[in-house]
Amino acid sequence: MLEHEFLLDDTLEIMAQNNKKHFSPHFVCAQSGVADLKAVTEYLYSQVGRKLNVYYEVECPEGDSDFAVVSPDLVPNDWRICSICGTHYIPDPDRVWVAFDFLPPYLEHVKKKSIRAITFPN
Ligand SMILES: [Zn+2]
Repeated sequence: MLEHEFLLDDTLEIMAQNNKKHFSPHFVCAQSGVADLKAVTEYLYSQVGRKLNVYYEVECPEGDSDFAVVSPDLVPNDWRICSICGTHYIPDPDRVWVAFDFLPPYLEHVKKKSIRAITFPN
């Protein structure tokens, strides 16, 4: 395991303890101090199904995260109305952003772990 992966493991744990939801690879870069976006993104994908769930947020022309799809191939090519600002638009596949969420078993594990740490300090 590379050192940045240990750092990212720690960062995810702290984010999970703080109930962080819907985060981007950029956010994890900023939180961890690991500036290599490609490495962070690869690491996050490597945790999908283990700690994380991945999805894709579709942005309206005004920059709102209108809705999410499970795969970038599933972005609809139809007119729709933004749920946030009401703009009519056709989703643009170039304005789809990858986002991650913690899986419930990982969140439970991290929370139990923090309770243990409080109960039995080293
Ligand atoms: Zn909008």
